[in-house]
Amino acid sequence: MDLEYSHEHQAFRQEVQTFLADNKQRSPTVRRGKPTREQIEWQQLLIENGYAARTIPKEYGGFGAEPDILKSHIIAEEFAKARVVPGHSGDNRLVPTVLELGTEEQKQKYVVPSVRGEMSWCQGYSEPGSGSDLASLTTKAELDGDEWVINGQKIWTSGAQYADQIFCLVRTEPDAPKHQGISYLIFSMDTPGIDVRPLVTMTGEAVFNEVFFTDVRVPKDQIVGKRGEGWFVANTTLRYERGGLGDPNEAENRFRRIVEMMKSETVGGTRLIDNPIYRDRLLKLQGRILSMKYNGMRVLSHQIKEEEPGLARWIVKLNGCELNHEMARLAIDVMGELGILYDDSPYLRDAGFWQNRYMLDLGLIIGGGTAQIQKNMIGERALGLPKEPKVVEAGA
Ligand SMILES: Cc1cc2nc3c(=O)[nH]c(=O)nc-3n(C[C@H](O)[C@H](O)[C@H](O)COP(=O)(O)OP(=O)(O)OC[C@H]3O[C@@H](n4cnc5c(N)ncnc54)[C@H](O)[C@@H]3O)c2cc1C
Repeated sequence: MDLEYSHEHQAFRQEVQTFLADNKQRSPTVRRGKPTREQIEWQQLLIENGYAARTIPKEYGGFGAEPDILKSHIIAEEFAKARVVPGHSGDNRLVPTVLELGTEEQKQKYVVPSVRGEMSWCQGYSEPGSGSDLASLTTKAELDGDEWVINGQKIWTSGAQYADQIFCLVRTEPDAPKHQGISYLIFSMDTPGIDVRPLVTMTGEAVFNEVFFTDVRVPKDQIVGKRGEGWFVANTTLRYERGGLGDPNEAENRFRRIVEMMKSETVGGTRLIDNPIYRDRLLKLQGRILSMKYNGMRVLSHQIKEEEPGLARWIVKLNGCELNHEMARLAIDVMGELGILYDDSPYLRDAGFWQNRYMLDLGLIIGGGTAQIQKNMIGERALGLPKEPKVVEAGA
């Protein structure tokens, strides 16, 4: 592991800091829903300066820089430190998947507007009977002339009520073994026959939805990869998605907010930062954050050498999401009775950020593959432990 930054990278960090000092006030407010004009303009400014869609080629709407993992890392770190809304590369699951496996026409049609922040996506994978065992999905697509006809149901589809498009797993070869019978289709959420029904979570917001398909007709060429090879494409998307969950920069930022709060909150006249029990909890979390941060550098060092990071990469999602949830738990305890307030109380701290995170982060431990499934994968794929025994169906 190499922890030194070159002069070039130190100068680059300075450049990012100057940009942030000059433009911080233009950073948009983040809210759920369709992207606002303010968000789209901010994304455009970041792309022009090389702080968003940095390595995506210019012809697909990006900045077109040569890949330099350390520079991307510095940008993420400085944006997080400045608490400024970072840029994106379009949808962090769909865009890299289409760039890796899509046709030229799909790259033009979907990557360009996504990178500009003008086209949003939702992920149609899970079904009522198929979550961890995703390959058992039953939503079917049958070819009728030049169109796929889709019937079935998805569930837990985050953001489906706002999304312009969906990338969706469907069964196209009902007689093939389950992993070989799936295809990966992309289509507009405005297509007739799609019914989106929001599901309200314990945060009080409808984060995800049920999505029903009744005779939804999609042009034949809106498939990514080959027919029946959707499992491979879906796993490419999941690899990018998991890499994006559990960001240590964001965790460090939240940690700093808790430290500030512990300096101002008091119990019996003693600041919580000076209370040995709370301080102990804080330090344990700090140790875990630092280990995640250095694990992130281990991943970076491998990537720079073009090596597969292995275990270091597999643990990011599991550890990052559990750590965020525990930080929110500490923040709520630090607030004492104010920690149980919600919504519009005049005594609410941080606009209810921590209460919301506590509930949302619990969901993120499940979304993108549950903690138990992550542990199975770490055991089997990173540590080489024996595979989990397969359940034999009755009568098989
Ligand atoms: C906040 C959030 C957002 C989401 N967004 C989306 C989205 O946008 N699109 C989408 O398609 N899906 C989404 N999901 C769904 C998510 O991917 C599934 O919830 C997840 O894969 C688990 O599937 P399940 O809910 O069917 O639970 P199950 O698979 O039924 O699991 C139930 C329990 O059994 C455990 N379990 C299952 N199999 C095993 C095993 N082999 N070994 C050990 N334990 C096991 C699980 O860990 C879990 O605790 C989202 C979920 C959440 C919480």
